[in-house]
Amino acid sequence: MNPRIVVLGGGIAGLAAAIGLARRGYPVTLIERDLPPPADPDLDPFLAWKRRGVPQFRLPHGFSARARTLLAAHAPDVLDRLRADGIEEINVFKTFVSPEFWQPSDDEFTVVWARRSAFELALRRSAEAEPAIRFLCPAVVSGLRIEPGVGGPPQVTGVRLTDGRELDADLVLDCGGGRSRVSRWLAAEDAHVHADIQDCQTVYFSRYYRFTPDCALPRNAMLLRGELESLTYIGFPGDHDTFGLCLEVHPDDEDMRLLRNTWGWEAAARSIAALAPWIDPANATPVAGIQIMGGHHNVRRRYVVDGRPVVTGLLAVGDALCTTNPTYGWGASMALTFAFAAAEAVSCNEADPVAMALAYDAATSSEADAVYRESAAMDRARIYRITGQEVPEYDRAEMERQRLISEGVAAGVLSDVELSRAFCRRINLAGPADAVINNPDIVLRARDNLKQIASAPFAQIGPSREELRAVVLAAEGLDGHARHLAPSPPGR
Ligand SMILES: Cc1cc2nc3c(=O)[nH]c(=O)nc-3n(C[C@H](O)[C@H](O)[C@H](O)COP(=O)(O)OP(=O)(O)OC[C@H]3O[C@@H](n4cnc5c(N)ncnc54)[C@H](O)[C@@H]3O)c2cc1C
Repeated sequence: MNPRIVVLGGGIAGLAAAIGLARRGYPVTLIERDLPPPADPDLDPFLAWKRRGVPQFRLPHGFSARARTLLAAHAPDVLDRLRADGIEEINVFKTFVSPEFWQPSDDEFTVVWARRSAFELALRRSAEAEPAIRFLCPAVVSGLRIEPGVGGPPQVTGVRLTDGRELDADLVLDCGGGRSRVSRWLAAEDAHVHADIQDCQTVYFSRYYRFTPDCALPRNAMLLRGELESLTYIGFPGDHDTFGLCLEVHPDDEDMRLLRNTWGWEAAARSIAALAPWIDPANATPVAGIQIMGGHHNVRRRYVVDGRPVVTGLLAVGDALCTTNPTYGWGASMALTFAFAAAEAVSCNEADPVAMALAYDAATSSEADAVYRESAAMDRARIYRITGQEVPEYDRAEMERQRLISEGVAAGVLSDVELSRAFCRRINLAGPADAVINNPDIVLRARDNLKQIASAPFAQIGPSREELRAVVLAAEGLDGHARHLAPSPPGR
């Protein structure tokens, strides 16, 4: 008899895991707190799909090549849906390296240019087309039923819903995202999940735009990226002629909180030469207001300790297992990686819950460790730089290692094909996150670049911290009464 499987959460991880399981022959019940997407195909899901359970729904997303590669292998129909929706696939390596250097393996650098709404909608429609997936939506899981294991760890045997219903389950997949409460429910039953946590110390102020029909700008918002003294800006190509712009600042930078106001945000973006044309009304019009999100953390949860599962009958998938700083664009790819690994672990060990937990851990832990470590280290490098804090002795070697990538590899992207490839590999998670920096040939090339940079350092192109502060405060002077109307960033 098939195991009774409940998937908690219908975001990227939950939808992919349900598809993976259904296609291996398992019936699945997927429980999602939000309403389904609107049925009308003419409505833009970015605006019309109410996703309160996913606070980042309208914030910029880019999907790394790993995400596309996984979909091509496990759910090619999702890519077909994206193409049918007019969504482009672009090979990032081939956009900046001439054809004579291309190799067949460079196909692994093809990415999907879409907003999160379009990407998730394609996944959702593929899941809805699977007869083996039953959606309980909207419905909210409020707790787990946990029983003592016989001579082993405690076992999850079902879920409770807020409407009083209980569902029996031989297996629950926690796909509840970074704010999932599952590890707290487990702790209340004395099953403790260890978590490594590091604050990303960043707040996003972002906005999506749509190109005007006469816009002459190149459509490649991906090239919009820069680190100023106190602010990072990033561009995200989107679907249907859209693109996202994100201004990222440190949460303690009080004046920069004015970016939550349209006038503050626009004044800051206009003062950055690379961004100014992109928000010029002749080129682009806003799709929605400023979207704000803070409180980001790198989190790595461990469900297997000293070779023993903390609990059986439960697999944590997606952000519930490991969350990284969204800036690096790895979250969705890792969610898909974990989701398809979970489906495989179930199908190989369906009658043995301990073997299933161990197989899933073996398939995912080294990659989860690597993305957590790299994301946390990149964040520390930015925090030391922005706050002017001296790098402590214990972190110096790691910061040098990160500099090899952020400066040594990046400086060679346009002049050294191997560094272009290494750079694309890293940002696209083509292989584990630390593979590039563990490659001795890449390290040598990056070191050479660092020596050259030391003799001719880059000049900052854009306003200094003080200039940006002055620009934003001046905008407040012009529209000061609005200051008290805009909400504070969540989590702050
Ligand atoms: C600001 C921001 C920008 C990002 N940008 C990128 C990017 O550019 N590229 C990238 O790859 N990743 C990005 N990410 C990360 C990416 O969004 C996540 O990694 C990804 O959504 C994880 O998928 P998930 O399914 O684990 O969680 P989610 O997508 O958050 O889904 C969780 C689901 O569970 C549901 N749920 C939770 N609890 C319950 C419950 N008790 N009962 C029922 N349902 C429940 C929620 O409603 C939700 O639908 C970004 C994240 C943020 C915060």
